[in-house]
Amino acid sequence: MAFIFDKYAGNINALCKQGRLKEALAILHYMLHQCVPVDSKTYCFLLQGCSKLATLSHGKHLHSHILKLGFQHDIFVGNNLVHLYSKCGYMADARKVFDSIPQRNVVSWTAIIAGYTHKGNAKEAIKLFDKMDKEGVKPNQFTLATIIKACGSVEAFEQAKGIHHHVIESGFESDTVVQTALLLMYVKYGRIENARHVFDRMSERGTALWNAMITANAQSGSLKEALALFHGMPEPDVISWTAIIAGHAQNGYGEESLNLFKEMQKTNLKPDGFIMASVLSVCANIAALESGKQFHAHIIVSGFENDVVVCSALVGMYAKSGIVEDAYHMFDKMHQRNVVSWNSIILGCAQHGKGKEALQLFEQMVQGGIEPNEVSFVGVLSACSHAGLVDEGRCYFHSMVHDHGIDPDVSHYTCMIDLLGRAGHLDEAEKLINGMVIEPDAYVWGAFLGACRIHNNMELAINAAEHLLDMEVNDAGIYVLIANIYAAAGRWDDVAKVRKLMKNRGVRKPPGCSWIEVKDRMHSFVVGEDSHPQMEEIYALLRRLSRQMSAAGYVPDKKFVLHDVEDEQKELSLSHHSEKLAIAFGILNTTPGATIRVVKNLRVCGDCHTAIKFISEIVKRKIVVRDANRFHHFDGGQCSCGDYW
Ligand code: ZN
Ligand code: ZN
Repeated sequence: MAFIFDKYAGNINALCKQGRLKEALAILHYMLHQCVPVDSKTYCFLLQGCSKLATLSHGKHLHSHILKLGFQHDIFVGNNLVHLYSKCGYMADARKVFDSIPQRNVVSWTAIIAGYTHKGNAKEAIKLFDKMDKEGVKPNQFTLATIIKACGSVEAFEQAKGIHHHVIESGFESDTVVQTALLLMYVKYGRIENARHVFDRMSERGTALWNAMITANAQSGSLKEALALFHGMPEPDVISWTAIIAGHAQNGYGEESLNLFKEMQKTNLKPDGFIMASVLSVCANIAALESGKQFHAHIIVSGFENDVVVCSALVGMYAKSGIVEDAYHMFDKMHQRNVVSWNSIILGCAQHGKGKEALQLFEQMVQGGIEPNEVSFVGVLSACSHAGLVDEGRCYFHSMVHDHGIDPDVSHYTCMIDLLGRAGHLDEAEKLINGMVIEPDAYVWGAFLGACRIHNNMELAINAAEHLLDMEVNDAGIYVLIANIYAAAGRWDDVAKVRKLMKNRGVRKPPGCSWIEVKDRMHSFVVGEDSHPQMEEIYALLRRLSRQMSAAGYVPDKKFVLHDVEDEQKELSLSHHSEKLAIAFGILNTTPGATIRVVKNLRVCGDCHTAIKFISEIVKRKIVVRDANRFHHFDGGQCSCGDYW
């Protein structure tokens, strides 16, 4: 009898290990049918078989057998049940079994802690870990690795540090599983030095860990470290290259990133569409058009011309760099387009004030059978907003909700408030805010406030300002806007109050900064710049331009000296705002007639806007300025935004 029984159990075990659960269950049923006694060990094998496949239906059935047979107090059976329920995410059931195990050991605790961690309930996992410690059960390497992971996923850095002590005490400091968990946890908290400390002590370091270290360093701007790690790595893979290339590009080293990309092409590794797309979007964000164009050439050479992800990124890159024609051309050539490709071109047109074109494209997309998503509607509504198309905007907002079933989020509301408010429909805008199903955020109120200011409605403006001040926003631009509203109303005490609030809340306005790419290199300028080697020439040119502008009828708008007083107060002269410095640098360093493209981190001020119109006429150049909000194409004394921004 014992022989037969062991043979059955052995077979069940083997089948479960191979994932052949159904066959194992058939043997069980045969045993039960033939009245062969089944022991608790056999149930453990079967439960493990269920866990392996993460299937609960058979598991529940087995659980009922177990209860009938009275095996539930067996610790091995109990642990396997906890493990199975945890793995399938049924934490209430797992907990019930766990609580009923009379003498829980480290395996029981680890199973339940892992269950909560995977389910995303890190707080409960940490609580249980503390309880386990109090009950005197010593963790093993798997418990430690799991709890470290839990600490990395919530704000629990103090606990995480405590667990690091546990690791040292329990002698698991050189265990690879534990070290990996520790390293990834430190990376998550941005504690790169701690991560490095763990990394340096590891004897086995897989490619994934090297990549985690490179990515962490690159993203925090420690490019030297990242590069040293990268070169020290036994065998960099595509992910390592992506991290190092994107890291350089994101930190403004477009040229270096392009060189690294070329280096990668000499290896046997093939860049994937993801690298291409991410590098392109970085080029777009820093407006590194020259680098972007070189990538474009590489894309053609390396056969990515038909990759929909890469091509959509190219469209986005050209659109964001201010060359809508090229973006459109690129889009036109695509054989296959998905919603991302359409969104790239729609958003591109919207940002450039080509509202009608954006709407036409949207209609084409829908007619072509592509279902628009939330991003498409951000494009459409901002197109309406930038072009002042109020009726169309109302229609699309309605259709988004009713025809496409998309719940508006704050970005849709912000576009609508902006559109209605700027067109003077302040009451309607206010109604929309009051009827919002989600909490209006600072951008919604900010858009409303901006509109109130344009239409000189002090009462509504001050009401909006008060809402904003209650929200403890972090965006310095909003405080400046509020201060300006109070200043315009002559409420100087309130102006002082806003400034004080800003200081107390630690909000700092980033200095105005503009970038221009000349011959593959990005040059950045801040207001009142004096460190640039060509500064004397730049100021001389601005003085000359200033005289020509005055002769042509330009009058500096002194109001904006006050407007930007927070960030640019040291420099009272309007002529030294960063975008003017960058434009002057561009005039000096590019061939006559070439288009000048500048990116600014804040909104362009009204005076600069007027001045750039004059400059475009005087120097006979097209000047494209991308500010924090939109694009301005200056040409022959006019701007594409029609002074509406
Ligand atoms: Zn300015
Ligand atoms: Zn403009």
